[in-house]
Amino acid sequence: MQKRLSPEAYIDGVLSGNRVILSRAITLIESQLPQDKDLAQQLLEQLLPHTGKSIRVGITGVPGVGKSTFIEVFGKTITAQNKKIAVLAIDPSSQLTKGSIMGDKTRMEELAHDPLAYIRPSPAGNSLGGVANKTRETILLCEAAGFEVIVVETVGVGQSETIVKGMVDFFLLLMLAGAGDELQGIKRGIIEMADAIAITKADADNIQASKNARLEYLHALHLYPAASNSWQTPVLTCSALNNIGISEIWETVQAYAQKMQSSGFWEQNRQKQNVEWLLAFIRQSLEDDFFNNPVVKQKFGDVKANILSGKILPIQGARDLLDSVK
Ligand code: GDP
Repeated sequence: MQKRLSPEAYIDGVLSGNRVILSRAITLIESQLPQDKDLAQQLLEQLLPHTGKSIRVGITGVPGVGKSTFIEVFGKTITAQNKKIAVLAIDPSSQLTKGSIMGDKTRMEELAHDPLAYIRPSPAGNSLGGVANKTRETILLCEAAGFEVIVVETVGVGQSETIVKGMVDFFLLLMLAGAGDELQGIKRGIIEMADAIAITKADADNIQASKNARLEYLHALHLYPAASNSWQTPVLTCSALNNIGISEIWETVQAYAQKMQSSGFWEQNRQKQNVEWLLAFIRQSLEDDFFNNPVVKQKFGDVKANILSGKILPIQGARDLLDSVK
C-alpha cells in the first residue's frame, strides 16, 4: 500500500495534470478505508470548482462489437485536435470472460502512449459491466486534471447502461450489422437511451450489411416518441480498422454539445443527474453502514442459516436484522 500524500500534493498534482498523482487520487477515492474517505472528500470539495467543463461520453456495446478498437481511433481523432481525453475503460482481466474475448491483446495500446490521453481501467469486480462505484468521482478528478473529453466505457449488460447514461452527457451505442438485437443482448430500452448509434466494422464484406442495419435502426428509432430535447438520434456506420466514419461521430458529439448547451438542456440534464447521484449515494451509504454494523455482522450468519434451513422466510430475516440496528 502506497503512502498517502498530503491534501496539497494531491490537489496540486491533479490540477497540474500529473497522471501519476491523478491515478493515486483515483485510488484514494476508490478506497474503502474510513481514514481515506475523509481525505477523498476533502480532495473532491477542493477540486470541485475545476470540474464540469468536459464533454462526458458513454460508450456501450457487447463484447466483441469493437469498443476498444473504436475508442482508440476515436481518442486519436480527438488528441489530433490537441484536446485531452480520458478513458475510464473496462479492465478485461476482471471481466466474466477473464479476458478470453480480447486474448492477450493490450487494449488501446496506442492511445495509452499518447501524451494527451489517459486511460484508467476500472476493475469490473462486483460492479456492473465495468462501471465502478466511484466512476462519477473519477470523472470529476479527470476534469480537474484538464481532460476535455471523458469516455466511460461499459459492456452492454443489464443495468450498466442505465447507470452510465445517468452520468454522461452523450450516450453512444455501438452495434454490429447482421446480428439480431437479441443476439447482441441489446434491450429495447437501450436503443431509446442512445444519443447516437454507430454500426461498427463497416468495411470489406460487411459494408452492405452495415448500410442495411443503419436503415433498420433508423426505422426502429422512428417508432419511439421524439426526445424532450428535440435531438434526432443519428445512426452512423464506421470502421475503426480503416478509420472511416470516426471523425463524423466526434463531429456528431460536438454538434450535440453545442445544441444542448445553447438550449439549456445540457445544464438541466447535469442537474438532474446530480439529484440521482445524491439518491444513489444515500442508498449506498445506508447499505454500507448497515452491513458494517457489528450487530448485523454478528447476526447475519445465523439469519442466513435459518433461511437456508427453511426455518424463517427471507422477509422475516430481513426484518430481524433491520430491527436490530434501529
Ligand atoms: P470490444 O470487446 O468491444 O472491446 O471489441 P474489440 O475492440 O476488442 O474488437 C473485437 C474484434 O473485432 C477484434 O478482433 C478487432 O480486431 C475487430 N474489430 C474491431 N473494429 C473493427 C473494424 O472496424 N473492422 C473490422 N473488420 N474488425 C474490427
